[in-house]
Amino acid sequence: MTEKCGVVGVSLSGRDAARPLYYALYALQHRGQESAGIITHDGFQQHSHVEMGLVGDAFDEGDLESLAGSAGIGHVRYPTAGSLDTSCAQPFSVSFKSGSLGLSHNGNLVNADELRDKLAGKGHAFTSDGDTEVIAHDLARNLLEEDLVRAVKRTMGRIHGSYSLTISHDDTILGVRDPQGNRPLCIGELEDGYVIASESAAIDTLDGELVRDVRPGELVVLHDDGTGFDSYQLFEREHTAHCFFEHVYFARPDSVIDGQLVYEARRELGRKLWDESGVETDVVMPVPDSGRAFASGYAEAAAETTADGEPRPERDDGVEFAEGMMKNRYVGRTFIMPTQDERERAVRLKLNPIKSTVAGKTVTLIDDSIVRGTTSTQLVELLRDCGAEEVHMRIGAPPIVAPCYMGIDMATRDELIAADKSVEEIRETIEADSLAYLSTDAVAEALASDRDDLCLGCVTGEYPYDVEGEVTDRDVDRPEIDSQPMRADD
Ligand code: AMP
Repeated sequence: MTEKCGVVGVSLSGRDAARPLYYALYALQHRGQESAGIITHDGFQQHSHVEMGLVGDAFDEGDLESLAGSAGIGHVRYPTAGSLDTSCAQPFSVSFKSGSLGLSHNGNLVNADELRDKLAGKGHAFTSDGDTEVIAHDLARNLLEEDLVRAVKRTMGRIHGSYSLTISHDDTILGVRDPQGNRPLCIGELEDGYVIASESAAIDTLDGELVRDVRPGELVVLHDDGTGFDSYQLFEREHTAHCFFEHVYFARPDSVIDGQLVYEARRELGRKLWDESGVETDVVMPVPDSGRAFASGYAEAAAETTADGEPRPERDDGVEFAEGMMKNRYVGRTFIMPTQDERERAVRLKLNPIKSTVAGKTVTLIDDSIVRGTTSTQLVELLRDCGAEEVHMRIGAPPIVAPCYMGIDMATRDELIAADKSVEEIRETIEADSLAYLSTDAVAEALASDRDDLCLGCVTGEYPYDVEGEVTDRDVDRPEIDSQPMRADD
């Protein structure tokens, strides 16, 4: 099971943490719509409220008031078909001899089953089949024998895969990012405390300042009085494995992830898409909302050079950018509909072209990705029905050929249209006049990253972690370094 989620943790000096956590979860809603939860600690006891549904529906005034204490963590969980039950809703909590523990997890462990079996053999009873509970039990066990930092380090040494965690140990709030930094996690400073969150947009929502990303392999411990934080670099790897798909699709465009504004990254991907495979058409339009920044970068580059790479003559208007496709924002994600029939219906419910912008025109449609091919097939047909003369599809990511095991709900291999089809075969299937994807090199360049520092598992089929039956593209057993406390501003 994969966990595709948003996490947050705050520690404040004088006021209750519940409301800031609630607002932060609102800002992270796009990372998970299945369930929402908050755990707080008032110095004496833990309070918890976890509910299925959207953040706005999961909490009422009374719930927020009952969540007393100036420290806490929160979680939003991403929907997967068939997992509509509360046993996997988070934050997950356990109470043990020396205190209480709350855990919010974004990511996916690749050795959770093995660890669960080991812990079960030592008498631990599990209530869910999620990997977060495994981390919680392992950590609780270590905390009986060791101090906080050593206990976290020992757990990190055992768990393999992707994880960005916020943890409450009584009223101490921690943030942990896996040694390859697969999922995002960042630290923000508030007027009266500190926050750790999946994305910086959550920090902005609280009127805070982004301090920096949590480093891969780092443990961050917020001071209980909200005055600062301590950092412990517990593990270090030669390469990171930042998920490129966070930049392409998953994260909010107004978030800064690993030092880069997502909106700018998407525009740059769009510019490169024009450079690699630009086609001169009357209009270029995005599939809203995910294709918007790509299309704006693409159109901007098209205004500067022609599709042949020559400087665009002044009298030539280039390719017109148009918002020709309207989105009904009240329709949920088409992606999670269980049947193909429902997915097709949902695309039509969700998107509708403005006929006059496309009738009699050649059109380029830009989207961030093609997964099953449902959206593009439907949209190409729709544009033709509206009188488009030609429909060209341009995609701001490489073909998705393999599933994601690191925390993004993609689809199974059988469902991925690019798993066994060439680009030309996909073009035929979606019935576009032309189709082009962005190259992996262009992705690495646009994200200002070494290819080896990105997780490109879903587009290469090579993963940064050992996944049963899949190829690993790196050695995961690199030497670890000793835990060294560092100052907050280090
Ligand atoms: P599909 O219709 O299956 O080809 O999916 C492609 C569409 O779904 C694109 O418009 C993407 O923006 C969007 N998409 C891509 N990945 C995901 C994901 N993991 N969850 C939800 N939507 C996605």
